[in-house]
Amino acid sequence: RDSKVHQNLLESHSFINYKNNVENIKIVKERLGRPLTYAEKILYGHLDKPHEQEIIRGSSYLKLRPDRVACQDATAQMAILQFMSAGLPEVAKPVTVHCDHLIQAQVGGEKDLERAVNLNKEVYDFLSSSTAKYNMGFWGPGSGIIHQIVLENYAFPGALIIGTDSHTPNAGGLGQLAIGVGGADAVDVMSNLAWELKAPKIMGVKLTGKMNGWTSPKDIILKLAGMTTVKGGTGKIVEYFGEGVETFSATGMATICNMGAEIGATTSVFPFNKSMSEYLAATGRSEISDFAKLYQNDFLKADEGCEYDELYEINLSELEPYVNGPFTPDLATPISKLKKVAIEKDWPLEVKVGLIGSCTNSSYEDMTRSAEIIKDAASHGLKAKAIFTVTPGSEQIRATIARDGQLQTFKEFGGTVLANACGPCIGQWDRKDIKKGDKNTIVSSFNRNFTSRNDGNPATHSFVASPEITTAFAIAGDLRFNPLTDKLKDADGNEFMLKPPTSFSGLPTRGYDKGENTYQAPPADRSSVSVKVAPTSDRLQLLKPFNAWDGKDAEGLPILIKSLGKTTTDHISMAGPWLKYRGHLENISNNYMIGAINAENGKANTLKNRYTGEYGAVPDVAAAYRDQGIRWVVIGDENFGEGSSREHAALEPRFLGGFAIITKSFARIHETNLKKQGMLPLNFTDHAAYEKIQPTDSVDILGLTTLAPGKNVVLKVHPGDGSAPWTTELSHTFNEEQIEWFKAGSALNKLAKGKN
Ligand code: SF4
Repeated sequence: RDSKVHQNLLESHSFINYKNNVENIKIVKERLGRPLTYAEKILYGHLDKPHEQEIIRGSSYLKLRPDRVACQDATAQMAILQFMSAGLPEVAKPVTVHCDHLIQAQVGGEKDLERAVNLNKEVYDFLSSSTAKYNMGFWGPGSGIIHQIVLENYAFPGALIIGTDSHTPNAGGLGQLAIGVGGADAVDVMSNLAWELKAPKIMGVKLTGKMNGWTSPKDIILKLAGMTTVKGGTGKIVEYFGEGVETFSATGMATICNMGAEIGATTSVFPFNKSMSEYLAATGRSEISDFAKLYQNDFLKADEGCEYDELYEINLSELEPYVNGPFTPDLATPISKLKKVAIEKDWPLEVKVGLIGSCTNSSYEDMTRSAEIIKDAASHGLKAKAIFTVTPGSEQIRATIARDGQLQTFKEFGGTVLANACGPCIGQWDRKDIKKGDKNTIVSSFNRNFTSRNDGNPATHSFVASPEITTAFAIAGDLRFNPLTDKLKDADGNEFMLKPPTSFSGLPTRGYDKGENTYQAPPADRSSVSVKVAPTSDRLQLLKPFNAWDGKDAEGLPILIKSLGKTTTDHISMAGPWLKYRGHLENISNNYMIGAINAENGKANTLKNRYTGEYGAVPDVAAAYRDQGIRWVVIGDENFGEGSSREHAALEPRFLGGFAIITKSFARIHETNLKKQGMLPLNFTDHAAYEKIQPTDSVDILGLTTLAPGKNVVLKVHPGDGSAPWTTELSHTFNEEQIEWFKAGSALNKLAKGKN
């Protein structure tokens, strides 16, 4: 059991450390004196300090040591730029970067890829050179979607990985905990800091029976989304168990785990089982499978008698296909009721486009089953009624289905095969068949269907379903069609029913064809590699370390903005068109707080410069203050910074000269992100002070020279109307280590200082 087994076939420096995981689990079990769920075993098996870590599900903050990090190209840019600013020679844990989000679907695979490579050249050059320099693996454009590549190459049972993308949980299909995070968390792990996660609650989902006919693994999560809603999984890990788990493929399990993100779950996981073994073997990793078998009983499954915080049960024998949407993935309608509901709700009945693939559903099994349905339709002389697109999840999938004929079947059916990338799933779709504003229906095998997500058209009714049902809709071109009960007409007008697909093996009998090699391993000698960032670039900018604290209390700071009501990370740092600048702090800072409502005038992005009296946009006024050496504060309401874990929302105020953000309360991730950037997140102990403080006031923050955990500081307010100053206390959640971040100017400054 103690032999050394590599985590994958691509890296010589990463090994599976089950022995250490099992030792940690033993320590925790002795302390807690109770059986553990499988998800708990993986988490506690990766604790930084298992002897002293407080463990209460739903409340403690766990300090963890993940096995690896995966980043997609949109989020990797700032993560790597930050890592570089710490001055470390290489990443502390295995890291891979995947180019998948920036490729727009227009006409089809090859041409779209070529265009994207030219358009995003500077980003790709930066990612390729920086990964080489700092010892990370790089998957270039065309290689495929991050989660499919992780599943094919890096995922293994019992591992803990983090990824800078919400659908990282996909890898739960190989029995690991894979958690989507923001760039700041990735930087922690890259820099060898422990990674913090609020101990999740565990939701158990018992699967009984066996699927048949048109039902597929996707329907399990579509049904569960309907049962739990989009918020039902928040702060929880979904753990599947029961005899039903043994009845379908590992890639099917990955689909289910992938879409756990749609119920807000931290991640989802299946226990190690036979299908995982088979998938590992099919992807050249029998050694890992054999090694995992040795740990199957004490590590890679839940303990008898373990307890879940809540429990659901789904009988697979009774499960029917679901179609979820429009506009939200938890509006679940079983196919038997869809016709009635669609008519009642006045959903557009013509299916304009059927899209299969994406990271959610592009396995060999998915492609094979869709091709089987299409062949059946073609044998009756039918072609696609709707536009039909196929997004292979990886080059390996594309090459294998090209070799085995499914790709040809799709093309003959009238389908367009897109690049191995995210494409229409993330709105990278130059859709031509309708005009913006036209009400229409599309059905995809993707995971998300929020308003405008796929094509930027708020009137598009986007539904998610299995690839099988999506394909059936593409054939029928009608949302009322139920392939389980309804007949189609063949080319001669004769009625027939589509046959349900039968191929359930999930794996190619001739093995996978790896296709073109798109992986770039870091070179053995990295000393001569230079990182490519053009000084003229408007998309990338090297980061300069922030200044250290001057060691004094802060006095006479203006209030940049008192923000009214809800202030989410979208208000603080908007997404949409700003995505382009994720690697350029100066440019993206032009969106700072442009969505927040100014308490002074009830408007967004209009505020008065206290020194010139002129009105300007929030980022412009902030930059004007900074350029005159004036530090400023922001006043905020409850749960300030809720939403995403986007680190830009914390980097931007720091870059623009902000000193403190003072609120009634913070969303925890944003609060930590602010601390990491050397900002002071502070809370009013008396909420009435939030009401009393005026946007025209200025403030002193006193007590910083003796800043200590649990010790309040004082806010002295100088009213703008010249009335007498008043004071109030501010609390904070800094611990000793975080106070050092503040003093050094940022967590990375502190890290760099420690190194020198
Ligand atoms: Fe995200 Fe869609 Fe890309 Fe998957 S395919 S990683 S869900 S954008």
